[in-house]
Amino acid sequence: MPVLTRLIPSPVVVDIRPGALDDLACVLADERISHSGKLAIAVSNGSGARLKERLAPALPGASWYEVGGGTLDDAIRLAGDIKAGHYDAVVGLGGGKIIDCAKFAAARVGLPLVAVPTNLAHDGLCSPVATLDNDAGRGSYGVPNPIAVVIDLDVIHEAPARFVRAGIGDAISNISAIADWELAHRVKGEKIDGLAAAIARQAGEAVLRHPGGIGDTGFLQVLAEALVLSGIAMSVSGDSRPSSGACHEINHAFDLLFPQRAAAHGEQCGLGAAFAMYLRGAHEESAYMAEVLRRHGLPVLPAEIGFTDDEFVRVVEFAPQTRPGRYTILEHLDLTTDQIKDIYADYVKAIGS
Ligand SMILES: [Zn+2]
Repeated sequence: MPVLTRLIPSPVVVDIRPGALDDLACVLADERISHSGKLAIAVSNGSGARLKERLAPALPGASWYEVGGGTLDDAIRLAGDIKAGHYDAVVGLGGGKIIDCAKFAAARVGLPLVAVPTNLAHDGLCSPVATLDNDAGRGSYGVPNPIAVVIDLDVIHEAPARFVRAGIGDAISNISAIADWELAHRVKGEKIDGLAAAIARQAGEAVLRHPGGIGDTGFLQVLAEALVLSGIAMSVSGDSRPSSGACHEINHAFDLLFPQRAAAHGEQCGLGAAFAMYLRGAHEESAYMAEVLRRHGLPVLPAEIGFTDDEFVRVVEFAPQTRPGRYTILEHLDLTTDQIKDIYADYVKAIGS
């Protein structure tokens, strides 16, 4: 009997629970990750300093690096700082910017990365992509998947609510991204990776249908797992397709047209997904998505993140240019400015205020 399977690039350790940080030293002592105990730990100078105080006694072989921000220059600087250290692994301990910097730096010096996110703002915590600000605005860089992911839900409870809520928008947007993938399959014959689609869709649906909120540990568990699974779905398919469609083109357009005013990634993606579902004629799904986003305190109208209706129309019009080659409902409909205005007005009526 022929046995044909494939290996899925995925972390060797995924530890998501309250108190997980207390066992971080044990995870890092796993010989597959670090046999000498020499680790380069990237932290922010904000909340990272407190975590350093807490964790340093258990990690005597670690060197701590404060990372300024989330730019390509910060990541290159970090890689330069750690390349002379003979480390076994790099640990990214902090929010999305720290994780992305650590991912890029680890890839550059050829070391495995352990991701220890302190918020749940987006699905980059376990994905093969590092998002960094560069001279052209913002870029996505391909990197290996983390070798381990440790998420302490007690730490997540302490994170600013906005950076936890935002992850809900990013997770839910998977549903719209998969609908775009299916559209590209029907119209353009693009191949769908069924396993990647299944993982990403189930992650999105679990968050969409969960009755809880960010104050509940049970909900945070599902949200954190959904974000990790979204990252793994991207590794399975080899690109961001399972978690990024028109929703993310709209998000990128916000970032590129209004770099100073852009909101959180997950906030923009959630709004983008609710609107993209409306565009594709899935009006009930769009209304339900909007209702859930609202229940979590996430934006469903541009005014809720400080943009006018006309600015949003510009964003939608510009969005297809942000991901050339990616076929979504936006490229499919190829709307004129007036058509976008009309559909947007219908969307506003449909979701109510
Ligand atoms: Zn995203």
